[in-house]
Amino acid sequence: MTFSEGGQFEGGRVRKGGGRRGAVGAGVGGGAALVIALLYMVLTGNSPADILGTTTDSGGGEQGYIGECTAEQANTDPECRLSAAVDSLDVYWAETLPQQSGVEYEMPEVVSFTDAVDTGCGSATSATGPFYCPADTTVYEDLSFYDQLSSQFGAEGGPLAEMYVTAHEFGHHIENQLGLFERADRSGTGPESDSVRIELMADCLAGMWAGNAATTEDPDTGVPFLEPISQAQLEQALSAAAAVGDDNIQRRSGGDVNPEAFSHGSSEQRVRWFSIGYEGGTIQDCNALDARTL
Ligand SMILES: [Zn+2]
Repeated sequence: MTFSEGGQFEGGRVRKGGGRRGAVGAGVGGGAALVIALLYMVLTGNSPADILGTTTDSGGGEQGYIGECTAEQANTDPECRLSAAVDSLDVYWAETLPQQSGVEYEMPEVVSFTDAVDTGCGSATSATGPFYCPADTTVYEDLSFYDQLSSQFGAEGGPLAEMYVTAHEFGHHIENQLGLFERADRSGTGPESDSVRIELMADCLAGMWAGNAATTEDPDTGVPFLEPISQAQLEQALSAAAAVGDDNIQRRSGGDVNPEAFSHGSSEQRVRWFSIGYEGGTIQDCNALDARTL
């Protein structure tokens, strides 16, 4: 999964958020306030914003948007990779979602955060892992999480898994747009639960994107986003993705963020549903929510 030579990504799509002086603790400033805020969050399950007042967010060094990137940068720099992957996902779903479901694609917000961030689903920290918040239709990713990922899975495996995770979170956005979040009962767990079905469908939708990424052209440059994915790369991405399943990566901070249910299906199921999408499956084929067998 390598971005094609000649690719150029305009940037301005992925907002940088959080940080020590970002959304959480802004206006109070200083590490002590953040510690208090996080303690408060852990102890009460409420958002630190409740005690810190509204966030003003001035002077946070990490604020702004991820800027322009070349394909070369997207292949080496995690911020650029996220930004370029999001561009690719936008183009793919803007075409595919209306085609297959009649629903117009609305771009989700994407926030790359550090340390801690306030969201429509409550406060999150780096320990939460990447997630999608349906309430504010935003994908949140903490790039320091990916440092762990690449050190754990090696330089080559890391980027593949990163894009897989981003595509999985976009899958949840697509589910949300299709009204499936409202229909699913995500409170339950277990192998037949809606929670598992929602996760497997997101894997399948991620597979759809991955299977088409090499033929989806960037309208700005006419260059296909990604080079074709080799079998070895695919296996590596899948094994990494299975290994960093949401169960592992979403260590709850004790806050009120509950972006995902805890049960996400077995690794075997996840790989299989990804493959259904990857091998030419449609949104209908990916509909694990209504599937008789998982
Ligand atoms: Zn998920």
